[in-house]
Amino acid sequence: MTSATQSVASIDPFVLLQQEPAGSTVPQQKLFGLDRTALIQLFAELGEKPYRGRQLADALYKQRVAHLDEITTLPFALREKLSAAGWQIGRPTIAESFKSIDGTERYLIQTAAQSVETVWMPEGDDGAEFSDEEGNPAASGWKRATICVSSQIGCAVNCQFCLTAKLGLQRSLTPGEIAGQVVAVLARHGVELNKQRVNLVFMGMGEPFLNYDNFMAAVRLLIEEVGIAAPRMTVSTSGIVPGILRFAEEPVRPKLAISLNAPNDEVREAIMPINRKWDIAAVLDAVRKIPFKPRERVTFEYVMLGGVTDQPEHAEQVIRLVRRANLPAMVNLIAWNPGPGIAYSSPTADSVAAFQKQLLAAGIQTYIRRPRGRDIYAACGQLKRTTEAT
Ligand code: SF4
Repeated sequence: MTSATQSVASIDPFVLLQQEPAGSTVPQQKLFGLDRTALIQLFAELGEKPYRGRQLADALYKQRVAHLDEITTLPFALREKLSAAGWQIGRPTIAESFKSIDGTERYLIQTAAQSVETVWMPEGDDGAEFSDEEGNPAASGWKRATICVSSQIGCAVNCQFCLTAKLGLQRSLTPGEIAGQVVAVLARHGVELNKQRVNLVFMGMGEPFLNYDNFMAAVRLLIEEVGIAAPRMTVSTSGIVPGILRFAEEPVRPKLAISLNAPNDEVREAIMPINRKWDIAAVLDAVRKIPFKPRERVTFEYVMLGGVTDQPEHAEQVIRLVRRANLPAMVNLIAWNPGPGIAYSSPTADSVAAFQKQLLAAGIQTYIRRPRGRDIYAACGQLKRTTEAT
């Protein structure tokens, strides 16, 4: 156990009062999001033995219970005691879902007062292994799946091609709200983690490294309590250098993706204003501080905008940039997904294929990401709490 995700003592009473249901006189507090250490501490404060904390952690994160009265390992009297003290499970719940013709599902997940978006992609979108496979995700079975997780509601980074940016930053999510998206989706699909392969990509709404502590606390919960291994997770950052430097110090961490999206600083500044604060060289310097494991690679995500970043000269510049970076790296090409109110155009399939060919010829491992759930606004850069399916 590396840290208590949210210590019992640190819970803000103002937040608790905000969560109080109408008519109740007892402030409601959420168990989901507390790790084993915090749960044991909670039971100690209630005069109970430590093993009760372990039972509760298993119920929350392994058995995925949604209500206190479903926890059969705890005696009725103890559940009553928790409830009387104002404790509830408090896991985020799926409020709405939209299903794509390709099997992708997009969820609006209800957190306190606002909803956040999470995407389920059967047959995966971990960015590397499906570039030339069609898959059949609408079929009844799936062998592996990827969950795209949000770290904030909205985003402050303001990438010009991204629909989420239009929301601005509403707020950062708590560790329980980040990990809770995953557990809610695992519960919905009855996933057996020992038999089915699930990857997580922290590439939903928000910039994870601008919510660093909560993001990493959620990662620890997902590793230690839910049981998803760190190498099955990838976090994408727009290039928040202080976050990358902290990430480099983590003893256990997901894989890293850098949302590069441009062949040079000039173009990157135009489409990602964050580049004015940390340019490409500064980001790469920070990434070089990461002690990569054998065979581990950093991924450069490259959103292709028609006429803006998809031309042969851009591919040449990306080749030089990747070579100069001198990192174990691969490139993911993502054809830009259209969104309302954004004046870019998608690249042609031919220009994406030609771009990949150029990079491959230069010896750079390059994949094309198959767009997922475009028809339900679930694809990259399309998350904006859109309630219409199309
Ligand atoms: S692409 Fe990511 S970092 Fe950029 S505005 Fe959208 S959500 Fe934020």
